[in-house]
Amino acid sequence: MTDDLLICGAGPAGRALAHRALTAGLSVTVVDPQPRRRWTATYAAWADELPSWLAADTLAAVVDRPLAWTTRRIEVDRRYAVLDTAGLQDALTLDGARVITDRVTAITRPTRTGTAGLELPAARLSSARVLPAGRVIDARGVPRSPALAEQTAFGVIVERERWTAETLFMDWRDDNGADSAAPRSFLYAIPLDDDRVLLEETCLAGRPALSIRELHDRLIHRLRSRGIELTGEETVERVRFPVQGGIPGTAFGAAGALMHPATGYSVATSLRLADAVVAGDAIWPGSARAVYRLRQAGLRALLALPPADLPVFFDAFFTLPIASQRAYLSGRDELRATATAMTALFAALPWRLRGILARAVTMPSPRPGATTNTAYSTDPA
Ligand SMILES: Cc1cc2nc3c(=O)[nH]c(=O)nc-3n(C[C@H](O)[C@H](O)[C@H](O)COP(=O)(O)OP(=O)(O)OC[C@H]3O[C@@H](n4cnc5c(N)ncnc54)[C@H](O)[C@@H]3O)c2cc1C
Repeated sequence: MTDDLLICGAGPAGRALAHRALTAGLSVTVVDPQPRRRWTATYAAWADELPSWLAADTLAAVVDRPLAWTTRRIEVDRRYAVLDTAGLQDALTLDGARVITDRVTAITRPTRTGTAGLELPAARLSSARVLPAGRVIDARGVPRSPALAEQTAFGVIVERERWTAETLFMDWRDDNGADSAAPRSFLYAIPLDDDRVLLEETCLAGRPALSIRELHDRLIHRLRSRGIELTGEETVERVRFPVQGGIPGTAFGAAGALMHPATGYSVATSLRLADAVVAGDAIWPGSARAVYRLRQAGLRALLALPPADLPVFFDAFFTLPIASQRAYLSGRDELRATATAMTALFAALPWRLRGILARAVTMPSPRPGATTNTAYSTDPA
């Protein structure tokens, strides 16, 4: 029997797609080397990015006005949601799907075979099995590569009473012991539920990114300077993943270039776009491809900034009207609004930074596809 949909990879993107396809009544196969692996990463998103079908109990915490500490304290007037990772995974049920524990080694495109008509796309597995399906979608994530900028972080989970300060989307204050010329990191401090808080020292993007060891040392230094001594018994979170890679229009999730390169966020976008992919709608109109290119230019700008100026850059960003911030962070096919936000940000920066950014954005970015698993179109031709 041939299924409507074969999904390669059961991370947040693949699982969301499988779940929504099953809900829509499609027959689905999912292949992953560890399909039942429990997710442990802490996922968060701007609340307005999440689809309405996502049950409210998959949210562990919602913060109305998270703080950005740049060169000053700024309240960001946009709701921020921390997902209950286990709850999210459980809510994306795969009931009714055929789940295969294996590795996909190749995905073949549909081909016309003479008068025999259209041959279905298929996935070849490492067991040498070949699985055809109506549609095959690659959601295998992006493999690490030195060519790709990465996000790294080291975090600890502490009881709420040990962290009396507010929710910090990013805190660039320089009390983490790092040299002023060294690559910069910020503190991310978010509630996980009523009882626990995640405190994470984060390197937003680096090529190479700061090491986990360095971020560990900085976090300890920073928390100590704020009166918090860690016991060493805290549960820790280690973060390292590419913030670029994947190819627009090929695949889904991170593999399909749905990650925002300036934040490392893709989960909410994958959840939101799953229904469109299930319906066979194109998710990469020309406007989305143009925004993708602007975002890649934005990443190059971020990587080129002198470390000491990152707080100045983010001060300008979080001073933009909230609609402009939203457009840049979430409007993946809002070309005009994204370009307007970037232009306003550029104009708000000191002249010395404008020159650096202008040079950076005109540099070529890594060739798309150089670091992806495959090239297979999910958008209708
Ligand atoms: C600690 C941590 C915190 C994070 N916080 C956030 C956050 O707050 N918000 C956010 O949006 N993002 C966050 N991210 C990034 C987020 O994890 C990724 O954006 C997201 O996982 C991408 O989802 P994906 O399903 O596209 O790919 P992946 O999560 O990489 O999943 C790929 C899946 O494919 C499977 N696979 C790989 N190779 C094969 C193969 N050959 N055949 C079959 N299956 C294969 C893998 O086993 C995996 O299950 C965080 C990451 C980490 C590590």
